[in-house]
Amino acid sequence: MSISRVRFSIIFLIFFSMSVQAADTTAATAIVGGTVVDLEGKAPIENAVILVEGERIAAIGAAGSVGIPDGAERVDAKGTWLIPGLMNMHVHLGLILPGKMAAELANESEAALALRMAVAARESLLAGVTTIRLTGDKAHADLALMRAINKGQAYGPRIFSSGEALTITAGHGSKKDGTNYDGPDELVKAARTQISAGARWIKILISGGIATQGGGLANALMTPEEIHAVIDAAHRFGAKVTAHSGSPVATDIAIDVGLDCVEHGYFLDRPTLRKMKEHGTWLVPTIVVSQPATEPFFKKIGSPPWYLERRNSAGKAHWKALQMAIEEGVNIALGTDQLPHEPNDGTTATAREAQYYMEAGMTPLQALRSATIEPARMLEAQDEIGSLETGKYADIVAVDKDPTQDIKALRNILLVMKGGKVYRNNL
Ligand SMILES: [Zn+2]
Repeated sequence: MSISRVRFSIIFLIFFSMSVQAADTTAATAIVGGTVVDLEGKAPIENAVILVEGERIAAIGAAGSVGIPDGAERVDAKGTWLIPGLMNMHVHLGLILPGKMAAELANESEAALALRMAVAARESLLAGVTTIRLTGDKAHADLALMRAINKGQAYGPRIFSSGEALTITAGHGSKKDGTNYDGPDELVKAARTQISAGARWIKILISGGIATQGGGLANALMTPEEIHAVIDAAHRFGAKVTAHSGSPVATDIAIDVGLDCVEHGYFLDRPTLRKMKEHGTWLVPTIVVSQPATEPFFKKIGSPPWYLERRNSAGKAHWKALQMAIEEGVNIALGTDQLPHEPNDGTTATAREAQYYMEAGMTPLQALRSATIEPARMLEAQDEIGSLETGKYADIVAVDKDPTQDIKALRNILLVMKGGKVYRNNL
């Protein structure tokens, strides 16, 4: 074969394989007959057609107004309500809690951890959660998994990660192996290390927490100098910073220096919540961890008495803080601090968290937004995900009731599509 013929064959092969791929990614799917919920509170689109081409929504509207190409695959969603894929903004895919669970996983290798996390990611997606933010996992297995999912090598939600959480010696989440960071210099270096590994958020732990003995839940453990230095360093790289905080004092200090988000907020008071509202600081409540519905979970994992005592000590204040945050109109994005699909009260932790928001004072629509468009806004990804609109990723979930009437509709997920691909279909 002459060189030019070889070259031609190679070019032909490249062209051929590209055209096959292109045909594949533009394969159309039409979800027909469902009711598309409007997140702005306007009337829903009944008997709708959502035309999906490749990974994105190509058109959306009432039947008859959207042409369905010949050969498009049809998904009959009659009798269902269609909403954006759910988002959970406080997840540790490799979560280990004190007690029996920690004992069983004490010698887990990093390879085993990565596999356990991959399984959890898959289960999360099947539970209707198409985007998660990871708020601290080990060994950068989270970032490896994020890349594998992005390449289509593993199934799971879209991942936004903070890499490893930055802990101080003796503080909440502090590591016995000594990889804690004390003083502004160490924290700045640690933040930059996470960013260079691929983290888009930095997670700091500025107050005590439930899962670590020592240091009150409401105590401000990180110094103002440390908080300032780490937030400043992250922002210079365009990374956002979220803080585990149960403390009004610590939160107050961190908001002044530009903190983007507060996790839990167990003991937040009204003045601090007002300040969060003023600054646009986000709250990810993880209310499910401190409330009664989660008791069977803690029993199942064999939580020790000291842990349950710390948890119970926070429950009432945590609930009050959530109610006040809703009253004050603080930006709230749903997060659970449990695996998104963890069984909870006959549904998943994600659905139960949303239900708690409604019980604490949100309208069903507000609760639905906290699980969809609000997290997208927090991630600054609202042009790509978070609502069902032409041009956005086709991350779509079907439920059997109208969630704007009752958020308990999220308890029963019937269809999960992410990036135009159906991962679960119980229709
Ligand atoms: Zn957490």
